[in-house]
Formats: sequence, structure tokens, C-alpha cells
Amino acid sequence: MALAPAPAQAFQALALVDAGPGAVADCGWEEPGFPACDGPGQARPRLYTSARLYLPDLRTQPMFDLHIRVLPGGRRTLRLANTIWNSGQGSLELTGELDPATNQTRVLQHIDTAQGDPRKYLVGEFVWHPTHDHWHFDEFTLYQLWTLKADRSLDQVVASSDKLSYCVIDSDVVDGEHPGFSPRRSYANCGQRQQGLSVGWGDTYKSFLDGQSLDLTGLPDGFYALTSSVNPNGVIIEEDYTNNSAQLYLAIRGNQVSEVTLKQIRAAECDKTVCE
Ligand SMILES: [Zn+2]
Repeated sequence: MALAPAPAQAFQALALVDAGPGAVADCGWEEPGFPACDGPGQARPRLYTSARLYLPDLRTQPMFDLHIRVLPGGRRTLRLANTIWNSGQGSLELTGELDPATNQTRVLQHIDTAQGDPRKYLVGEFVWHPTHDHWHFDEFTLYQLWTLKADRSLDQVVASSDKLSYCVIDSDVVDGEHPGFSPRRSYANCGQRQQGLSVGWGDTYKSFLDGQSLDLTGLPDGFYALTSSVNPNGVIIEEDYTNNSAQLYLAIRGNQVSEVTLKQIRAAECDKTVCE
């Protein structure tokens, strides 16, 4: 069966795949529910429905408040603040359900539809975060520091946060002009029952919070790229998966870090070698 035609209305449901008999995918969702994909290297899950959905669209703002902290014992860490926000047509709404058999809190994503029959899809787990002292949605973001190739594209990951859990709440207004924005803060609790991110709202994790750091120990001075990605497994159903990451270029010198442009990197490297 062909792809579902894109609805003409404003609520473009871009992630829809209407897969009929014979369609093949590694993993995915179908109604009324299907286990979310897991495991590294798996294809992004596909959503099998012909319903018109009001989907969230998760994005990452450029990281800020970057600084280096040297810990007792000498470990050198890069600390960073990060904001995830929702630019989509619908809220990200996550509700938890305790599974008594496993004692895990399964998380369902609620999605409103144009037909007025909300859908629920299993997308992951809420986990207790002992140092933040509240519940998090697991594997929500990923921070990585990269070396650069000669053409300044990303080369290798030299520091990674691994996939981080997050308490997903409305903490800041990012786009108050969005047609779907409401000034009401709908998601404000880091509980086990419901978390989410309203349209136009962002969720900021400040640099002092546990987890907002990368280990730089042993890393030589130089230029690097820092990336932050939301929904790194693609398990949350959203409009567009290509706009989930933000990227900055950094100069790291000893215990100093500064944001630089590609032009500045090129100029500094020309000082050391012969450039045209
Ligand atoms: Zn937290």
C-alpha cells in the first residue's frame, strides 16, 4: 500500500506510514499498541495508522552556560545547560502505567487526532532518578563531543553522556508566537503518572544538574564539535526526526572553553600551516 496522503489541513501528520499487508519494518507501533523498538542500531520505528494525528515536534536549542569544572582528584568535566522544546502541532504527553508483573512504569504517548479519538502508543519507561529525587523518562537526550575532520565535518566521538533520562515538563516559553501556544503551563510535575511538553514550551536542564556534563579527562587542547540530540532512539512519535539535534563548535584550552565559529577555526589553523 502506498504512503498515506498528507492531509491538506494545517496539522500535517508527517510521521504517518500507512502500511498495509506485506509491509515490512524492523519494529514499530500499530494500533492498539505494539512494543517500541529497542536496542542499538535498530531502524527507526514506524507508525502504522491512517488516523490524522496532532504530533509534537521535538527540537534542541543550542547548548549554553558551557564551562569546565575540575573535580577533586583532577577529573576535568565540561558542564552544559540544554533546552528541549516542542514546535509541533500537538503536545508531547506521556503517561505512566505501573506494570505489577515487572514493577516497571511503562510510558504511553497520548496523541490527539482530528477525528477526536486520542491514540496511545507504548514508547518507553519512567525511571526513578536517585540524585534528582524524581521520575524521569528514560533515554530522552544524548550529548556528545566530537573531533573534526580536515573539512570540519564530525569525525569521532571523544566524550559522550550516554542516553540521558529527563523529567519532561514545561519550564520555559520558547515560542510564544506559535499558533498552538497556550500560556498555561500544562506539565509541571516530575511524577510517575504524567509528564509532557506543550506546544511552544521548552524544558531546560541547567548546567549544575547531575548528568549535565561530559568527561574531558585526558583530552588534548583543540577544536571540537558538541552535539545534543533529543529522542535519540526515535521512539517518541513526532512530526520530524531530522531537526532533533543542535551543534556548536568549541575551542578547549586547558580549563577554558569557548564557543567558536567555523571561520575562526579555519583562521586559527591557517596560522599554523600554509593556507591559500
Ligand atoms: Zn531530573
